[in-house]
Amino acid sequence: MKTIKRVDLAKQWKKEKFNLLPLIIKTLESGEYVGSKTINILEKNIANYCGTRFAVCTNSGTDSLTLALFLLGVKKGDEVITAPNSFIASAATIAHLGAKPVFADVKDDQLIDPKEIEKKITKKTKAIMVVHLSGRIADMKSIKLISKKFKIPIIEDAAQAIGSKYYGKKSGSLSEIGCFSAHPLKNLNACGDSGFVTTNDAKYHKKLKTLINHGLEDRNMSKTFAYVSRMDALQATILNYRLKNLDHKIKQRRKVASLYFKKLRDLPIKLPYENKGEYNSYHLFVIQLKKRNELQKYLMKNNIETGVHYPIPIHLQKASKYLNYKIGSFPITEKQTKTILSLPINENLTISQINYICKKIREFFNEK
Ligand SMILES: *Cc1c(COP(=O)(O)O)cnc(C)c1O
Repeated sequence: MKTIKRVDLAKQWKKEKFNLLPLIIKTLESGEYVGSKTINILEKNIANYCGTRFAVCTNSGTDSLTLALFLLGVKKGDEVITAPNSFIASAATIAHLGAKPVFADVKDDQLIDPKEIEKKITKKTKAIMVVHLSGRIADMKSIKLISKKFKIPIIEDAAQAIGSKYYGKKSGSLSEIGCFSAHPLKNLNACGDSGFVTTNDAKYHKKLKTLINHGLEDRNMSKTFAYVSRMDALQATILNYRLKNLDHKIKQRRKVASLYFKKLRDLPIKLPYENKGEYNSYHLFVIQLKKRNELQKYLMKNNIETGVHYPIPIHLQKASKYLNYKIGSFPITEKQTKTILSLPINENLTISQINYICKKIREFFNEK
């Protein structure tokens, strides 16, 4: 039996090839590879999709975060509050600008806990970087109140949450700046590194357009030493095409999720039930259970690939050593690193595959 993969990019290409290849050829034949019209079109489409006034294409999700922090003036001596259970890029971008990543523990649902954020605020806090992990939206109502109270801007790390909604509003439109990744493994994916930033602020937008291109205001004049983080026309061509199918893809993922909910609800595992006002795009379907390692092995033995996002929290990475966090600094995050398991979820899973996965999970509990 063939392994049920969590992600199958070759299959995605096979399905799209007939329609997408001619568009790629057209872009190659245009001779415009960087800074082309395709980029402007994608920026309009993304802004439209996310419900923001502007979007700016970048080279990666990591660059999007760096640019957002730089835009807010984050520098040496500042602190930025973020979650310890994210992909390392969230904290890495803060550290790279010379600022200190200050972690705030998460809740049961893996999302940053507003109460913990408030406890971590100091005079040095320059921004709050929330992470919409696995496609779930953080508790933005509470976090916005904190942001208002202390006059500290919010950045959304929405790398895993394109198309997710919170009381009807899309991720990336819920704060000052939204940061996205279009890495091949994300829900809206390019065939290489890519990302984008969303904002409603015209000043931020104008500045961002120069920051991605050496700070150049025109061909020869720069006011700020900056970055080079331009998306290329090939990736933009692919993303313009795939953006059209994104809502369908999310609907398919939500169907898979609803089957999991239906078939696994009576088992001794914690399922990612949606919070009030939440519309999850299911970048990942993360369950929590005590016997995580055993179940993961059992499923692998039965040709079902699962994942752990993420096995080592950021505060316990070697790179974080200088921050002096210890085991026990963030108990909920640490507990979850041992209990979380990402089940296969994608738009290509068939009903019989989902049934098979659920059957094997049930079998595991009956056998043990
Ligand atoms: C993928 C990801 C990033 C980084 O995006 P890249 O495009 O790989 O640089 C940042 N934060 C989170 C939460 C991610 O999942």
